[in-house]
Amino acid sequence: MKKIGLLGGMSWESTAAYYRLINEGVKSTRGGLHSAEMILYSVDFAPIEKLMQSADWDGVGEKITDAALRVGRAGADFLLICTNTMHICAPRIEAALSIPLLHIADATAEALLERGIGKVGLLGTAFTMEEAFYKGRLKDKHGLEVLVPERGDRAFVNGVIFDELCCGVACGPSKEGYLRIIEDLAARGAEGIILGCTEIGMLISQEDTDVPLFDTTELHAKKAVALAMSE
Ligand code: GLU
Repeated sequence: MKKIGLLGGMSWESTAAYYRLINEGVKSTRGGLHSAEMILYSVDFAPIEKLMQSADWDGVGEKITDAALRVGRAGADFLLICTNTMHICAPRIEAALSIPLLHIADATAEALLERGIGKVGLLGTAFTMEEAFYKGRLKDKHGLEVLVPERGDRAFVNGVIFDELCCGVACGPSKEGYLRIIEDLAARGAEGIILGCTEIGMLISQEDTDVPLFDTTELHAKKAVALAMSE
């Protein structure tokens, strides 16, 4: 079994979900007492979030590339960055790292394409919904058409992520707001919705809506298990 490297802590709430999902994935395949071999570097998110909010991507990149290199040096065979947003630094990390990066947008796009979906709605941080690093990859590498919420709704989705979900809070009014936004995206033609922030699964699950949901935490973790167990 390959050793899975995790760059986590952004936030630790979703990193905990990765840890559980990956172990469950290995156990369901191998059974018994089998569990995953993992190396985790979990950062202190507060100073990184401060740099993000002031758009200091160079500062963010420096910190998380350093963390990624530590995971590589500790012996991981490949790396997962356990957040969608931080894939904004993926090119810098990939250039510095000698092990492969399992990109979260690729794991997600594969699942969408397997389900025959061509037009998808995207929920995530403002960075993920608005910048090219994520939507561009879905479009240019995978041929997907990506819809995002209107500006006011993007601010709402982003606020819930940083003010609630990353602090471990999942509450009813926010859930209702997310479900209304999902319905709006479906009415605009989205055939599925990417939960493109690794904490959104704390708030919304497939039982809450008939619109097909693609939870990036689950898909990324599932892909890591498959890669770890491949020859
Ligand atoms: N975990 C989140 C994501 O998947 C948001 C927090 C962050 O900015 O890393 O984008």
